[in-house]
Amino acid sequence: MVKKPFACGECRMILDGAEDPVQCTRCPTAPVSIDWQGFTIILNPKRSEVAQRLGITVPGNYALKVNIR
Ligand SMILES: [Zn+2]
Repeated sequence: MVKKPFACGECRMILDGAEDPVQCTRCPTAPVSIDWQGFTIILNPKRSEVAQRLGITVPGNYALKVNIR
């Protein structure tokens, strides 16, 4: 079974978990969580409705919803 990756609680980016502890490189102070739903790959944020709705400006893999406890 593949371990579920962490997602950043602030920008919602899916993190590869290469760092330990797992931390978003763009939001070093943001909490990370494995409790997230939805998965979307944003290739072109300027042309993506989803990206604009989520406020995503950088291409990457994102969760649609991240639950921070
Ligand atoms: Zn982040």
